[in-house]
Amino acid sequence: MTNWAARRERKTEVKGRAQEPSHIFNRCRVVGCSKPARAGTEDGLDTRFCRSHADHYARHGSPYRPSYGAREVAPYRVAAMVWLEANQSDTYVRNAVDRVATLLQSSGPHVEAFRLRGLSPQDRAKAAWARLRKAAVDPRGVVAAWLAIEMIIRDDLQAERKTEFKRVQAAKLVHKMASGTHKRWGEGSNVKELHVYPRSRGRVLRHVGEALEEACALLIDRHRANLPTALQS
Ligand SMILES: [Zn+2]
Repeated sequence: MTNWAARRERKTEVKGRAQEPSHIFNRCRVVGCSKPARAGTEDGLDTRFCRSHADHYARHGSPYRPSYGAREVAPYRVAAMVWLEANQSDTYVRNAVDRVATLLQSSGPHVEAFRLRGLSPQDRAKAAWARLRKAAVDPRGVVAAWLAIEMIIRDDLQAERKTEFKRVQAAKLVHKMASGTHKRWGEGSNVKELHVYPRSRGRVLRHVGEALEEACALLIDRHRANLPTALQS
């Protein structure tokens, strides 16, 4: 079937569905996916997509676009960090770095990764900032993560440009800057280890990304056109 014919068929199909009662009008919104949309909302995200596209959306901030890989983003983070250092006395740079420092400082006590279960997404987002503080993460590195995402999207002609995608992508980078909770007990062959990494997905990423976006908003407004090109480290 040609693209055009497929599109026309889909159009007719959508029209047909619109006339059906709403409980039947319930297919995944991703073009080309014919699976039924999810019925449940146990994670509070949405019911627009089938299970696998909803899951992808939760993890990556887009129902079908993959996340940028660490290696792809690295040259942008390096360039952003160099740029931040070169412009550290700039009012807008200082503002963003100070705001991130405030997010780290005002995030409350550190929560062990295995105690996060049952907390609200807001509280888990706070815990994520507290974890970064405990790991003594440089606030400039956190700002650089946001800039890197702005820059890689700027350079990617096929990029997903929705704010939510940016937030999730930046939050994923930031999330990896702090490690999980690690415990070790016992001796010799009886040694037991526990490694718990908070899961980086869902609404927590959106909360972390939104706070970071706000912290960097004035800087981006002012300097969007001055952001550097990627640098190989
Ligand atoms: Zn789907």
